[in-house]
Amino acid sequence: MTAANSNTDVAMIIDGERVGAGEFIDIINPATGEVFAQAPRAGQVELDRAVAAAQGAFPGWKATPYDERRRLLAAAAKIIMANVDELARLFTLEQGRPLAFAREEVMGAAMWLKGMGMHELPVEVTEDTEQRRVEVHREPLGVVCAIVPWNFPVLLAFWKISHGLLAGNTMVLKPSPFTPVTTLRIGEILREALPAGVLNIICGGDELGPMMTSHPGFAKISFTGSTATGKRIMASAAQDLKRITLELGGNDAAIVLPDVDVEGVAQSLFMGAFYNTAQICIATKRLYIHEDIYDELKARLHALAKSLKVGNGMEEGVVFGPLQNALQYERVKALLADAREQGLTLLEGAPVPQQGYFLPLTLVDNPPDDSRVVTEEAFGPVLPLLKYRDVDEVVERANRSEYGLAGAVWSKDIDVAVAIAHRLETGTVWINQNLQSSPTTPLAGHKQSGIGAENGLDGLLEFTQPKAIYIPKVG
Ligand code: NAD
Repeated sequence: MTAANSNTDVAMIIDGERVGAGEFIDIINPATGEVFAQAPRAGQVELDRAVAAAQGAFPGWKATPYDERRRLLAAAAKIIMANVDELARLFTLEQGRPLAFAREEVMGAAMWLKGMGMHELPVEVTEDTEQRRVEVHREPLGVVCAIVPWNFPVLLAFWKISHGLLAGNTMVLKPSPFTPVTTLRIGEILREALPAGVLNIICGGDELGPMMTSHPGFAKISFTGSTATGKRIMASAAQDLKRITLELGGNDAAIVLPDVDVEGVAQSLFMGAFYNTAQICIATKRLYIHEDIYDELKARLHALAKSLKVGNGMEEGVVFGPLQNALQYERVKALLADAREQGLTLLEGAPVPQQGYFLPLTLVDNPPDDSRVVTEEAFGPVLPLLKYRDVDEVVERANRSEYGLAGAVWSKDIDVAVAIAHRLETGTVWINQNLQSSPTTPLAGHKQSGIGAENGLDGLLEFTQPKAIYIPKVG
């Protein structure tokens, strides 16, 4: 085991120590395409050491009273808030999102650490007779393997940390190889609040994820990422029946009814699709617009695409950053090329910088339902606008997807919108809003968008095992 690498300040956190590795991963600033940091590349030795540290810390953390765990996590939230400026800067450098929005994500991590503390672990009494009392308690599972993607690298990590640690588990967390820097830095500063070994953060290349999911030391895998990877993780977890929570891909539909105030809703609809350069699992990825207002709304959305600035997130006035990595940039570029080849009409937004992984925000004008821009999760700034005539038709089209993450309905008539919401096969439906999530409320994918939930009491309970205790009242 080497000490933290000397040519960069980025280190893993294992058993409360800063730890380096013999090899490194280059971390690229997506706004420039240039390397701005190097992170350690963990192998089996570092993984084993992190798991052993988490196993060693588990009995003590499990025995720590729930209120005390809650207090320590709230203290950790304060440490993050005290460092928000430095963390947001690192975030923009590695993820690309403009600084103001990067701040929001870092603050979100703190908010979740404190916010999940609103929940109590329930003790359910399922029977209480003269003969006996039966209590169902919730116990932590052990060591959790947490794996997160690059699109919301900090918040999604803290959804797992806030739940898993509060419930009494210890954790080994792996950020995406594209975006480990901010998370590792937070792990470093949180050593002040959390006992050694409770939260270990390691990073590595593509080989590290499979090494983790097949490691016998983990009791549970909490994963956020693509559906394809989710399936591999489920297969790997089956070897020793590790518990799993999978938060996977989506192809969310938003349905706009003809009674909306087009001017009033255009900006919200636009941001619901393009925030974070459309790299959001719960972004609007198919926008169904009633034929009566289609042309007017299309024109407003196109005007927004042309007026909002895409560029380096460190610059003032930039609203949308680059695609986060070269792989995703090439994927979305290929999707756009395919759309052009199919003869689809593309409405492009403002010009973008030539250096870095930038693509213009692009609307696709009423493509066929079976075109790739409609059926696939683009996970980039390409939004199909789809014309519809009646509600039954649009509900059927919206549900025609292997995904079922979230959706939205836009109307002045809330009762009508709620009735449509009940017909959508998704875990979440927003009415006249989008991209909402909170520690209060479960986010759970239907169909191939996931298994289990994050957030809300449901999310917390995913990190526990029910234990029934039968207590006799008569000898
Ligand atoms: P990805 O599946 O490629 O990678 C996610 C993480 O898994 C990374 O840390 C990666 O290193 C790791 N990984 C890759 N292969 C692995 C394997 N075989 N075993 C174990 N770990 C492995 O996803 P991505 O490209 O980083 O993220 C984009 C995807 O994530 C999109 O599909 C998006 O919709 C989804 N996502 C879902 C949610 C949600 O809450 N449902 C939130 C954000 C993103």
